[in-house]
Amino acid sequence: MITVGTELLLGETIDTNAARIGQALAGLGMPVIRRATVGDTPDAIKAVVGEALDRTGLVIVTGGLGPTQDDLTREAIASLLGVELRFDEAIWEALVRRWATIGRTIAESNRTQAMVPEGGTALPNRLGSAPGLWIDTPRGLVILLPGVPIEVDGLLADEVLPRLVARHGSVPITSRMVRTSGIPESRLGELLGPLEEGFRPVTLAYLPDQVGVDLRLTAWRLDPPTASAALDAAEAAIRGVAGAWIYTTGHRDLAEVVLDAARAAGATIAVAESCTGGLVAARLTAIPGSSDVFLGGIIAYADAVKEQQLGVPAALILEHGAVSEEVARAMVVGVASRTGADRAVALTGVAGPGGGSEAKPVGTVWLAWWRGGQVTTRRVCYPGDRGQVRERAAQTALLGLLGAD
Ligand code: ATP
Ligand code: MG
Repeated sequence: MITVGTELLLGETIDTNAARIGQALAGLGMPVIRRATVGDTPDAIKAVVGEALDRTGLVIVTGGLGPTQDDLTREAIASLLGVELRFDEAIWEALVRRWATIGRTIAESNRTQAMVPEGGTALPNRLGSAPGLWIDTPRGLVILLPGVPIEVDGLLADEVLPRLVARHGSVPITSRMVRTSGIPESRLGELLGPLEEGFRPVTLAYLPDQVGVDLRLTAWRLDPPTASAALDAAEAAIRGVAGAWIYTTGHRDLAEVVLDAARAAGATIAVAESCTGGLVAARLTAIPGSSDVFLGGIIAYADAVKEQQLGVPAALILEHGAVSEEVARAMVVGVASRTGADRAVALTGVAGPGGGSEAKPVGTVWLAWWRGGQVTTRRVCYPGDRGQVRERAAQTALLGLLGAD
């Protein structure tokens, strides 16, 4: 697996493509055995791909398929393989059409994206202009993908993985994700550590991020029914000790789980956000179909907006401060009564880096939830920088919207 891009070497861009491709291939039982990164230099690209081809039968390259001067992968590979690049009329017409649909005229420089090495096949790219290239040669198979991560994901799913399975078959490695939030990794480790031995041949991996810990259960090389039973047993054991923190099995975002739960209950949702500035609303509206549940919200950053748009009494802010239980409560009541939502959340906090005090240090957030007329509140103090505090507060807000009925 080779990633091309000087920005990757300079550390300006993190090489997420290598990680995604590694995961995807492992899922097919076709693990990556070595990986390298080179800059946008034809000689370097040729050398590293040539060496990889000599060692293995299959090399995947990402980056450098674009129309600009620094996009040199296509030429470098053609030169390495000793083949000509030919202009593919059909790819060019598809590119012209793609640009026309967005009301633009394609630049002549994009013609390079319609160049295919002799003997290669273009892989249609739903999400971008440069098609991938599949080049089967006597030296081995070379797959070229663009650099943009979302295009890599799309091409993997649409073209590369199905073609690889058709060619090599796959040894099933089945994974299941159990997603948790609100419990630290170390505590989960204490709860689950003693159970792990009993999961075999299923293995457990902890994948923590800012807002939660995903538990990935993997059944190695088992036939599908056996794998599924083994994963069920491991998941049940995990739920037995950590069920309170599990919000879903699979890959859904918490926001989607929140929307589904509200939809099932016939409930609507609204938000009133101060320190998160719309992050909760953004998480909810990122989910397709949110409109039947999510009514909207008010970003009440200034005190005046809290007063005018949410009806928070000025005296309350004066007496308790904007970051207080009383104000969070008044915000949630205000947004629920103004929108008529059945479920609502309000947040007000000190995201930092400035603005903290001894009584309300940076990271202090008051949250209030409304559910059918009942208000609950919670004070949290998050560690981390401004971004982390905001992300974590948004996650807590969503967890509370999920809450038990
Ligand atoms: P484009 O048509 O956009 O020019 P390209 O195939 O030429 O696509 P690059 O120019 O190499 O791709 O990269 C496009 C974008 O994708 C850049 O923002 C780059 O930083 C990012 N990118 C490239 N390679 C990787 C990678 N391995 N991991 C994550 N991001 C990457
Ligand atoms: Mg480019």
